[in-house]
Amino acid sequence: MSEPLPGDATVVVVGASLAGLRAAEEIRHQGHAGPVLIVGDEIHAPYDRPPLSKQFLAGTWDVLRIHHHAPDQLDTLGLDFRLGMRATGLDPVGHSLALDDGSELAYDGLVIATGARARTLPHAEPAPGIRTLRTLDDCLGLRADLAAAGEGARVVVIGAGFIGAEVASTCHGLGCVVTVVEALATPLARVIGEAMGTACAGLHLDAGVALRLGVGVTSIVGGRPGGSPFTVHLSDGSAGEGDVVVVGIGVDPAVDWLTGSGLTLDDGVCCDERLFAADRVVAAGDVARWHHRGVGTDLRLEHWTNAAEGGPAAARNLLAGSKAAEPYAPVPFFWSDQYGAKIQMIGRPDPDDEVVVVDGSVEERKLVALYRRGDRLAAALAISRPRQLMGYRPLLAAGASFAEALASS
Ligand code: FAD
Ligand code: NAP
Repeated sequence: MSEPLPGDATVVVVGASLAGLRAAEEIRHQGHAGPVLIVGDEIHAPYDRPPLSKQFLAGTWDVLRIHHHAPDQLDTLGLDFRLGMRATGLDPVGHSLALDDGSELAYDGLVIATGARARTLPHAEPAPGIRTLRTLDDCLGLRADLAAAGEGARVVVIGAGFIGAEVASTCHGLGCVVTVVEALATPLARVIGEAMGTACAGLHLDAGVALRLGVGVTSIVGGRPGGSPFTVHLSDGSAGEGDVVVVGIGVDPAVDWLTGSGLTLDDGVCCDERLFAADRVVAAGDVARWHHRGVGTDLRLEHWTNAAEGGPAAARNLLAGSKAAEPYAPVPFFWSDQYGAKIQMIGRPDPDDEVVVVDGSVEERKLVALYRRGDRLAAALAISRPRQLMGYRPLLAAGASFAEALASS
């Protein structure tokens, strides 16, 4: 059990994105006066990822709008940024961090916020014309490919998860001819269940975007941006052509640099319910797997709100020391924008939950659906019904029964 960090302690944050920045800001808001260093392997000052598949990809927002802070605002936080620098190793006993320039950084407290990296297809490593989408540089590359392919570019999107659906929607809005290839029979079924996954598939179909479901990609051949197209071969023997291919098949937590550190790594950095991964070491955001007291299981969430809330929670606990730290047990939340519809989910659904539409309908593409697990309300999802959905947040926070939730709808 650790004591509070002394006021002059050095805190190092690894990962200069949402969870890392919010953790560093919170350290200052708590009045900590000691050095706060942020190590990030991207060269850019912290920026927001959601617009990369939406407004920034569409070209309606410029790069200034996606940065979390203007440069002069960042200066006022008194943070020591080490950008373009990668952490390569951790010694949690000696309290030091190895960096890719061969130097070491000593810390009194450490925040791990290295997020996740896009998975690639073995036969389609990212290159001009074939893109994953995780970083600003990925997005600039994709925009360049779309521009090179010109009006009416044919875009093949592999994966109909969040990246796939949002990229398909944005590219469709740009006038591209889009085909989405998805291994599952129903898009997003693992996250929001079959019924609501079918409703989301309807958003693609309504827009005239082709959906190839239940098939994988066996190879991608040819291709040159602005020149000959790629041929994407599918597991059912069919093939399609695309000028640009976007691979959105999920992410892996960025834990490679922690191998051999002694921290427990299992689909993320394993933490206790207070986000401690080791003495004086906390983790937050996409990289952290922690025991969620309310849900009763270990969770790793890959959504914006969890990074925005988890970073500060981890920072407060690090400063307070493990003795005084508070459990981190938020009500999970995410949103996704697709074809003009806003999809929002509160809570943590399970594929076996019963789903009851309590407002609107799948046909209208406007609805609120409640997820029932036993006699409890497990989650609520809305499509283009933001105001109605928020009423269920306090019920989920209070562990309300399904009957109570139905009565309030
Ligand atoms: P990340 O944002 O992944 O940041 C981790 C940082 O650490 C990165 O800069 C990485 O390069 C760096 N790093 C990794 N390893 C090292 C190392 N060894 N040394 C130094 N630095 C390192 N969520 C929603 O809820 N709604 C949305 O609409 C939505 N849209 C999204 C759109 C896109 C295109 C993407 C990619 C994600 C979207 N998300 C959305 C998810 C959300 O952006 C993430 O959950 C959030 O960015 C996680 O923040 P993070 O700080 O934990 O990790
Ligand atoms: P994702 O949501 O996990 O979806 C990936 C999808 O691709 C899954 O449906 C997956 O099916 C499918 N897939 C996997 N391998 C495939 C293959 N070989 N061929 C065809 N389909 C395949 O991941 P993502 O869409 O890549 O998003 C990446 C990250 O960004 C996630 O953390 C996501 O939460 C985040 N993000 C969030 C939002 C949002 O919340 N609005 C928006 C964008 C991005 P299986 O499940 O069967 O593997």
